[in-house]
Amino acid sequence: MATVAKAHCPVCNAQRVEKYRPFCSKRCADIDLGRWFSGSYAIPTEEMPDEFDIGTEELEEDGI
Ligand SMILES: [Zn+2]
Repeated sequence: MATVAKAHCPVCNAQRVEKYRPFCSKRCADIDLGRWFSGSYAIPTEEMPDEFDIGTEELEEDGI
């Protein structure tokens, strides 16, 4: 099993850059930092990934 974490910039949702992770650029890092300082940081609503798709738990037993 491979757990691939979707890495996106929390500020502009662009693909993040390793150098500025978890952001895509220094600009976004500054923006995020500014949000913290301003005290108006809002956690973006992210849709939950379907990691565990547990649907029906019906047991289908086919008798011979
Ligand atoms: Zn960004």
